[in-house]
Amino acid sequence: MKASQFLISTLKEAPSDAEVVSHQLMTRAGMIKKLGAGIYSYMPMGLRVIRKVEAIVREEMNRAGAIEVAMPVVQPAELWQETGRFDKMGPELLRIKDRHERDYVVQPTSEEVVTDIARQEFRSYKQLPKNLYQIQTKFRDERRPRFGLMRGREFTMKDAYSFDRDQDAAKASYQVMAQAYRKIFDRFGLTYRAVAADSGAIGGDLSEEFQVIAATGEDAIVYCPDSDYAANMEKAEALAPQAPRKDASLALVKTLTPGKSTCADVAEYLQLPLQNSVKSLVLATEQTNEQGEIVKTQVWLLLLRGDHSMNEIKVGKVPGLDNGFRFATLEEIDAHFGCLPGYLGPVQTKLPVKLVVDREVAVMSDWVCGANEADYHYTGANWGRDLPEPDLIADLRNIVEGDPSPDGKGLLAIERGIEIGHVFYLGTKYSRAMNATFLDVNGKPQFMEMGCYGIGITRLPAAAIEQNHDARGIIWPDALAPFTVVVCPISPDRSPDVKAAADKLYAELLAAGVDVILDDRGERPGAMFADWELIGVPHRVTVGDKGLKDGQVEYQHRRDAAATKVAVAEVFAFVQ
Ligand code: ATP
Ligand code: MG
Ligand code: MG
Ligand code: MG
Repeated sequence: MKASQFLISTLKEAPSDAEVVSHQLMTRAGMIKKLGAGIYSYMPMGLRVIRKVEAIVREEMNRAGAIEVAMPVVQPAELWQETGRFDKMGPELLRIKDRHERDYVVQPTSEEVVTDIARQEFRSYKQLPKNLYQIQTKFRDERRPRFGLMRGREFTMKDAYSFDRDQDAAKASYQVMAQAYRKIFDRFGLTYRAVAADSGAIGGDLSEEFQVIAATGEDAIVYCPDSDYAANMEKAEALAPQAPRKDASLALVKTLTPGKSTCADVAEYLQLPLQNSVKSLVLATEQTNEQGEIVKTQVWLLLLRGDHSMNEIKVGKVPGLDNGFRFATLEEIDAHFGCLPGYLGPVQTKLPVKLVVDREVAVMSDWVCGANEADYHYTGANWGRDLPEPDLIADLRNIVEGDPSPDGKGLLAIERGIEIGHVFYLGTKYSRAMNATFLDVNGKPQFMEMGCYGIGITRLPAAAIEQNHDARGIIWPDALAPFTVVVCPISPDRSPDVKAAADKLYAELLAAGVDVILDDRGERPGAMFADWELIGVPHRVTVGDKGLKDGQVEYQHRRDAAATKVAVAEVFAFVQ
């Protein structure tokens, strides 16, 4: 590829909504372009990365015996009604109607369609096991799309589904996939951990998430450095024997400035990744001056464990609540700051609540709160799982760092992860609901045993960047790089020798099967290098007049502090 014939559009500044480094760098490197919330165009530079992810995933899936298929993105609702998910699934499922007012869904995953294929195709035990996979567009109407490709609404997933004749065979198929996942993530050069995950109503231990270790990850994972124990927080908590450390935790989440802030600023704090047992309450306080004007409004988040009555809440010490603050009503906040977050609307309640602060009882009124029932208990408040958990949730955990590991082999550590893959034993959940049977050895119909296996194809490059970047930009592992090598001629317009040598090297690398790009745009060296460092091409070869006189070029790996002079022929040893 020649850079002049490609689309390279780098930016100095990241967009203001890009909170994490992968989103900033992918945008600045011209890899993605936002079209709407959680909806991105994969620009040519970014698409090359995604295609590399797909190729490796496809290769390892094929190697593991899975068969590629492509299922429709738009799927008739009838299948989803068979399993009940059309109604059960909630707003993440995008439902659409055609011109005849018939219902459809845009696939967030494809158990229904693949089970429909299986019940038509796999009639005899002789046709099993089978594993069907696709690499396809998915749509999930995420409550809070964020972090660029990390949590998009439209994204690409590899989803595989295994069909087996009995439980043992299904568990073997599961293990084959779990092994293939390890190979895949090893090939990408990622630091990751496979952790036990909740297997929901199905039970058993056959659900694992593959978590790329990164401080910006949305999931908390618990592991023991001295053993194989590793689980996501949800799973670890569910099994933790000890009582929660605290009942409640309160934190100031936002100070609002009249005329400047909007309640949308507050909204993100209402979407905490709460565990089932943790409820939340949003409070607002106002401080007024002597003229009665509001000088400060603060939003507090109160998290509670267990079933607390709304009439009395123990919160321990509340910092900042003792000097002229009062609780504002929702209407008052609305009047000052404009619109309120929509989901506060229907579930808000204002009640007189007795607040127990440091064992002193203070009676407060007009609390603003969310997600409760008319009986003054909040139940099942869950505003999504889309935000890194703040420390106040850690307060409410059953598990903290240093607790003994359940296997008794050491102490627990906690770190953050990005879920890039998930393997899941399904049992007969879908085959029963959809009557997917095969005839066993005795000619008797049996429900197929299933498993499902996902990889976030478009999330993976973002996760890789979280692990591999520096102040100048992305540092791609070779397996993911949009180009493996960039050849950078210095002032080729002024030196025919440089141009000829760069063209020749480029042609030779191409002939050797190296994924190389020649930067023939005629940019000044500084700008040219800055572009490639931002884009993150791992190997750079600079061709300049001075070196050429001695038959040399400069080689620099993206991680190297400086370039090394090498003979032209030596370049191949570095880049292959
Ligand atoms: P999360 O917990 O992050 O919401 P999930 O558990 O809902 O993910 P799965 O249903 O297990 O996701 O889907 C398989 C894989 O698809 C995930 O492991 C993840 O890598 C990817 N994925 C899920 N949701 C998104 C998304 N909104 N954007 C990009 N990738 C996603
Ligand atoms: Mg999800
Ligand atoms: Mg998950
Ligand atoms: Mg998952």
